[in-house]
Amino acid sequence: MFGRAGRLSTAGIRTAGANVAIITIDKNRCKGCGICLTFCPQKMIVLLEGEINSLGYAPAAFSDEEGKCKGCKICAEMCPDGCIEVYK
Ligand code: SF4
Ligand code: SF4
Repeated sequence: MFGRAGRLSTAGIRTAGANVAIITIDKNRCKGCGICLTFCPQKMIVLLEGEINSLGYAPAAFSDEEGKCKGCKICAEMCPDGCIEVYK
């Protein structure tokens, strides 16, 4: 699921399996550096090249339609701007 321009954050809900992980990305503070998507072991994060946020960057978004996110929090730990939160 990708967010639309103007929304504060993007989020995905993992529905496969017993555990559910919810990842939110504050797209209006995201600088589009790509660090989170580089380090995500499941490649669940992309840059929304068709969007520009209030800072002038293409923001990151989380998409996990197949339930591959393990809720490992690597993305949140690597983001230099603290834009990502992971809830399990
Ligand atoms: S919690 Fe882990 S698997 Fe899920 S999006 Fe972040 S880095 Fe990827
Ligand atoms: S690491 Fe943070 S600032 Fe960089 S693209 Fe990901 S969410 Fe945006």
